[in-house]
Amino acid sequence: MKKHSLREQIKSVTNLNDRIYLFVVLISIILTLLTTIVTLAENSSPHAGLSVFFAFFIVSIIGYISIKYNKMKIGKLIFSYIFGCVLLPCVYLYCEGINSGAPLYLLTSYFIIGLLLTGKSAIICYVVTLTLHMILIWIPYFHPNSFNIEPLSLEARYFDNAIAIVLVGFALFTLSIVSLDSYRKEHDSNKELLTKLKNMSEHDELSGLYNRRYLYRRLEELYSNNNDEINSYYIAMYDLDNFKTINDTYGHLFGDKIIVYFSDILKRNINEEAGELASRFGGEEFICIYKASTLDKAYAKAESIRLNLQLSEWSEDKNLTTTVSTGLVPCKKFSNTKQCLKEVDDLLYKAKESGKNQVYYNK
Ligand code: GH3
Ligand code: MG
Ligand code: MG
Repeated sequence: MKKHSLREQIKSVTNLNDRIYLFVVLISIILTLLTTIVTLAENSSPHAGLSVFFAFFIVSIIGYISIKYNKMKIGKLIFSYIFGCVLLPCVYLYCEGINSGAPLYLLTSYFIIGLLLTGKSAIICYVVTLTLHMILIWIPYFHPNSFNIEPLSLEARYFDNAIAIVLVGFALFTLSIVSLDSYRKEHDSNKELLTKLKNMSEHDELSGLYNRRYLYRRLEELYSNNNDEINSYYIAMYDLDNFKTINDTYGHLFGDKIIVYFSDILKRNINEEAGELASRFGGEEFICIYKASTLDKAYAKAESIRLNLQLSEWSEDKNLTTTVSTGLVPCKKFSNTKQCLKEVDDLLYKAKESGKNQVYYNK
């Protein structure tokens, strides 16, 4: 198995929860390191400095191993327990407990549990940590000499609390901002992905026109609406003429070029706001929904598209003329999509039978 460096592992993290874990590890390392420096600067007992340095060391080791070896799930669990039930209690006991700013540090463990764990494991870790913290706080009250917690001078207490608020405040502030920001980014990229997927599920890749599935949906909608809307819609079915010969003569890529070119003509002649639609029905067949006040006007539109293609020139062969045959029906003549498509297909067949390159409809 290929070994990945820590940097590569960090770069490969895309999952939101894992990204938050990276930030939690980073902030915890910074927090414990700063606390070590402050504790040493305060001239407290060497035990206090050592306990915080121990926390810094353990946090770094757990973070390093779990990230480098991609064991983040178990890493989050171990991190939450060790941080809340071992490291912070050590810091609490060696940094004069309730007499100092240490209780404030305990708070960070709940925030970390909430960020890293979910479901049952979060609740169990929360209860275990809370129970332990309660024991830590209350035992010295009932047994004053049990933990050997020294009272601090008033000045040291003020100083210690102020520093604790600065450091814990920094940790909670940064973690909440980073987590929410990551969540927002994830939300936005999911939204973008959904839009892309929706777009892909409704469109044909080559032509960019709507696909057959979307066309059916729109036709079903049209036929299920119980109003007069259907009266003004027409269906035109286009089929490129002699397309197999064109493919065989000029190659498949040129065939694709004609499909894209013809699709662009269809697109340009669609008014989507009026409920019109152009779709690729399959291969070299296309179906459009047109809105028109009369059959003649719908015919005029299909006819202009036919002419537009016929007049197109191709650099591959100046003498080549591409044409299309079309069937045209008014939607109101039918009671459902199936009947409507069958009739338009029959008319297209008649257009082919009677010489191609024409729009065929029943007066
Ligand atoms: P007609 O005038 O009767 O419609 O004849 P035709 O050759 O157009 O019809 P036929 O059904 O015999 O052949 C259709 C051809 O369209 C065959 C198929 O290879 C080609 N075709 C279908 N989809 C594509 C595509 O995406 N790209 C290309 N280049 N050709 C395609
Ligand atoms: Mg065909
Ligand atoms: Mg054809």
